[in-house]
Amino acid sequence: MRTQVLRALRGRFEPEERPDPTPQGDETTVRVLACGLCHSDLHIVDGRWPAFPLPRVLGHEIAGFHEELGNVLVYAPFGCGGCDHCERTEEVMCPDVTEAGMVVDGGYAERVLVPHRRFLYPLGDLDPVHAAPLACGGVTPYRAVKRTLTLAGAQTPTVALIGAGGLGQFGIQYLHLLSDARVTAIDPAGAKRDRARALGVEAAAAPDEVEGRFDAVMDFVGSDDTGSLSARLVRPGGVVMQVGAYGGGTRVGLSMVPHESIWSLSLWGSRDELGEVIEIARRGELDWQTEAVALDDVNDAHRRLRAGEVTGRLVLVP
Ligand SMILES: [Zn+2]
Ligand SMILES: [Zn+2]
Repeated sequence: MRTQVLRALRGRFEPEERPDPTPQGDETTVRVLACGLCHSDLHIVDGRWPAFPLPRVLGHEIAGFHEELGNVLVYAPFGCGGCDHCERTEEVMCPDVTEAGMVVDGGYAERVLVPHRRFLYPLGDLDPVHAAPLACGGVTPYRAVKRTLTLAGAQTPTVALIGAGGLGQFGIQYLHLLSDARVTAIDPAGAKRDRARALGVEAAAAPDEVEGRFDAVMDFVGSDDTGSLSARLVRPGGVVMQVGAYGGGTRVGLSMVPHESIWSLSLWGSRDELGEVIEIARRGELDWQTEAVALDDVNDAHRRLRAGEVTGRLVLVP
């Protein structure tokens, strides 16, 4: 099978022919139909995250064909299946998690090895190329919104949503689907503010324009700047949910941030939540943009994502 392999941090992807994976025991394989590009992939290439063993086939937003299940989405954080987290289907928090495209080889390839069929979710009539980003970009904001609403405890919370890119746009839609939240989208890019307005937010503003205090702040960037902004925007007793993994944040302590504000983090999503997101998408309640590019053009796709030239989600097609 054809793969695109990362051999060194900050390096380029190189094509490599490899033997098809051969499943043993509970393992199974999927023929990759599409694999979304995620900002996490850039963090991995840059070594901004803990080093994963190289060489590695990246890619954790995998849609593929399974011989018995048909078209499926792969839940990529493969957990052990036996710990408390895995029993709650929160396998991403398993102490022994091996994420496809990070710890083991992922979807920048024609085939991928999956440890167990429980990681496969039938897509039904969803187009696999369009659906691939749901596996991370779609489910991560879903979990974050659910956790934010639970912690905020208000029926009609005011929410400041920082970062109206791919994940933030999903986040706006989940807030509207799951609550009566009044959302203010915050982004320096005018095109993303326009997109947020089209999705029905109450207001959209640049970071230095926004004023007031909010019941909840959702930070889809996760830099030091957006951490400081979150502290400025949350009301006393309100909730800050960091979702973006840019590698920053802010110091939290008494009298350093608004009194009794609740600071939390949200990571990817559970298997159950991925199933719920697929159902929402199949009902036609989600709107997201994808652009298909050839697997062999992965280096150019990474360059474009890095340069901020992409409005929707890029999807590699082998
Ligand atoms: Zn991701
Ligand atoms: Zn586990």
